[in-house]
Amino acid sequence: MMNELTRSNISSWIQNSGRIVILTHTNPDGDAIGSSLALALALVKKGKDARVVIPDGLPDFLRWLPGIELSTTFAYKKEKAIGIIEKADMIFCLDFNDPDRLNGIQEYLAESKAKKVLLDHHEDPVEFADITISETWRGSVGEMIYLFLKDIFAGDLLDKDIATCLYVAIMTDTGNFTYASSYPEIFHVVGDLMKYNLEKDRIYNKVYEAYSVDRMKLQGYCMLEKMVVLPEYHTAYISLSEEELRRFNHRKGDTEGFVNIPFSVKGVKFTALFIEKKDRVKVSFRSRGNFPVNRIATDHYNGGGHINAAGGDSSLSLNETLSRFESLLPDYASLLSR
Ligand code: 5GP
Ligand code: MN
Repeated sequence: MMNELTRSNISSWIQNSGRIVILTHTNPDGDAIGSSLALALALVKKGKDARVVIPDGLPDFLRWLPGIELSTTFAYKKEKAIGIIEKADMIFCLDFNDPDRLNGIQEYLAESKAKKVLLDHHEDPVEFADITISETWRGSVGEMIYLFLKDIFAGDLLDKDIATCLYVAIMTDTGNFTYASSYPEIFHVVGDLMKYNLEKDRIYNKVYEAYSVDRMKLQGYCMLEKMVVLPEYHTAYISLSEEELRRFNHRKGDTEGFVNIPFSVKGVKFTALFIEKKDRVKVSFRSRGNFPVNRIATDHYNGGGHINAAGGDSSLSLNETLSRFESLLPDYASLLSR
């Protein structure tokens, strides 16, 4: 994954750094948190003062991860987070392709004199780091961190905690190996992680079987009342207003995965989830097969992502956002009918 020059530069930067900070994207998911904590834990083992700074809230289903005490959330502990970033000798940026995704942290990143390394798997990374390692074909940054640790640190640095974080990253970013994972190497990586007494089934349980009753009922409500299926476009979407979220005592992370619900309907290839926020509508897209959801996210929702998973925002009202979405579908009809 790295040429000789990149490897030796990064190695010497790590060697010469006392304080190393890891940044990841807003609204962090399992890959963002899992890959960041794995790298932080590894760097701590190497004697570094390594910290993770997250822009905003951590979902409950990731709070149990080993190393979580190394993380600080900028939205809640601004002064502390800024202090950590300002003191950094080196900054790793994981799982985002544009500093815009840092939701307020980007100005402190830009001001920092630290050596900066970006490791990411999103297309078209913005050039802001001293070294960019971009591998868009990989299912997760977790896999990249596994390879990075093997490559940079001779000897065996991995342990059960690091393997757990890496596995959560790989598992969540591939939908438990249902997409972005159809290549042999990912299973070699997971096979190696299993050697560290990885509790694969327990991890699945902690991440995917940890819902509140409210969340479960909200899911049922979405399926019964809110799912709109448009068979002619092989498309289905779900929307939730702020009022509906309140009714089900919504907590951060509760709508995670809802965008995948309609794939259980035969023939659905493209799904969307619209969540009303205070000042915008957060849009998530997923697809099966070769319909490029990152294209619709980039073209119309000021967003981006991968071919099968992307997102963005709408500044229209929720209802206007939905009718606009339906009005866009004819433009994509030929792509959707393939
Ligand atoms: P999610 O639907 O889970 O929020 O996001 C799925 C993927 O779409 C993310 O991993 C990220 O790559 C991308 N994504 C989501 N929202 C945005 C956004 O606002 N801007 C950009 N550039 N990418 C996004
Ligand atoms: Mn990712």
